[in-house]
Amino acid sequence: FTGNYKNDGASNEFTSLTYPHSREMLKVFRQKFGLYSFRPNQLQAINAAILGFDCFVLMPTGGGKSLCYQLPSLLLQGVTIVISPLKSLILDQVQKLTSLDIPAAHMSGGITDSQECAIYKELSTMNPNLKLLYVTPEKISASQKFCSFLKTLYERELLARFVIDEAHCVSQWGHDFRPDYKRLNMLRDKYPKVPIIALTATATPRVRTDILHQLKLTTPKWFMSSFNRPNLRYSLIAKKGKNCSDEVIALIKTKYKKESGIVYCLSRKECDTFAAQMKENGIKALSYHAGHADNKRSEIQGRWISEEIQVVCATIAFGMGIDKPNVRFVIHAVLPKSIEGYYQESGRAGRDGANADCILFYNYADVYRIRKMVEQDNPNPNVLRTHMDNLFKMVSFCENKTDCRRQLQLNYFGEIYDRQQCVANKATSCDNCRCKDDFNMFDATEDAKQITKAVRDIVQSRSCNLTMVMLTDIFKGCDLKKLREAGLTKHPLYGRGRSWNRGDIERLLHYMVLKEYLQENMHITVNDFVCVYVKIGQNAAELM
Ligand code: ADP
Ligand code: MG
Ligand code: ZN
Repeated sequence: FTGNYKNDGASNEFTSLTYPHSREMLKVFRQKFGLYSFRPNQLQAINAAILGFDCFVLMPTGGGKSLCYQLPSLLLQGVTIVISPLKSLILDQVQKLTSLDIPAAHMSGGITDSQECAIYKELSTMNPNLKLLYVTPEKISASQKFCSFLKTLYERELLARFVIDEAHCVSQWGHDFRPDYKRLNMLRDKYPKVPIIALTATATPRVRTDILHQLKLTTPKWFMSSFNRPNLRYSLIAKKGKNCSDEVIALIKTKYKKESGIVYCLSRKECDTFAAQMKENGIKALSYHAGHADNKRSEIQGRWISEEIQVVCATIAFGMGIDKPNVRFVIHAVLPKSIEGYYQESGRAGRDGANADCILFYNYADVYRIRKMVEQDNPNPNVLRTHMDNLFKMVSFCENKTDCRRQLQLNYFGEIYDRQQCVANKATSCDNCRCKDDFNMFDATEDAKQITKAVRDIVQSRSCNLTMVMLTDIFKGCDLKKLREAGLTKHPLYGRGRSWNRGDIERLLHYMVLKEYLQENMHITVNDFVCVYVKIGQNAAELM
């Protein structure tokens, strides 16, 4: 791992099995949980938690984070309070624990007053039996009664620990910010003696730093597992035009006949059309998006999880809390909004450990469609800028034909990864590692300068609207009436890139937009048509 992203799990500090608590801990591990071997970092995090340290547990989804606080709770005096964002996640966990005969309860929507009373009563006894109490963050931020109860427990020294599950919800930079999570920042001030454990599958360094800052965890022990998913086979397919439903359907009908999968689409409308078209082609599909009511959404989820439905056509609203082990393919029919988003969404494949495919249909024009949607939602220019930055990092990921897809993702998350692993693991090598093409490397700085100069010249002196397509045509030297009439066939840039193939010219231009040597200005016309014109960008002078 690079930078200040630590992993105390890798030192020998917490690896011992000879602590005074170790015997009991192993007994509970085997007899209560019925498990035999620890996943990476579990033993270390459990030891650190039992020893009373604050902990920050970073593991990909399915990595086994829950055990890191559930097991310690059984060895400690008092009750562990678990904060989790969704009722469905809470119910799942409590049910699982109860079935293992572990005393757990929850206070989230849906329990009756008398059930709640029973919990309060139990916790008021001399030596409460209850070990884990799950609540939604609203309970802590909004229930006076609950808070005064916590206070009493604290004074009686019966608060064993606070657990902040899905801790990325405290960060505005995360993909699922929840204001009620942000208020958890008072836990440390109000209950300074209670250790905190924060857990998340968030992979971005920025969000990680923000989580610790928000929760006021100044010196937690870090337990960070690799975010590599060795059983996922990443590939990218060039998308022709706006719609790729025919290709997606053909793929599902040939390669994934009976397999479960997700197709991510851009908009609600696109989900609906995709699902309808699949049904016409005999694929059992349903669409899933925020336009459906809550109960409709859980119904769709349920039918998919029980295999009644093969494919869900979803927007990114289909996400957290969905845990289907045997998802064999995740297809992105549209460019994901960020590398983080792509990692999380594609990561829903292959949770069972068996190989699964992650296929992304890529087309640069999706940038404009996404930008249009983002602009409609977020008028704030700073927010827009962050979104566009994230989007362009994704573009750059897609347009990269030589580097390993795993390495690109993991490096983005601050993790060092040796590409040879991807190459060697043939069944799941990424497309770039599978590719046998030869590449020529050359310095295109001068081309980039000439292009920038030409854009300045054409846009300013001729006050002409220049599109990416025109710019590509000029550089390539295409014999077009439009260019002749505008006198552009005489321009020094005309035909400079005659020997280039079009895709490479486009990649260079997109890279120049990413670097802000060029800038694309988007205009939406009255009939909702998007026009994009090129200008020189704010870093043009630096390039020159
Ligand atoms: P996370 O919260 O990191 O997404 P969970 O804690 O929900 O993951 O665990 C995912 C699955 O892995 C669960 O079904 C859990 O029972 C299982 N699991 C966790 N730890 C182990 C282990 N040491 N051995 C076997 N299975 C485990
Ligand atoms: Mg979890
Ligand atoms: Zn690779």
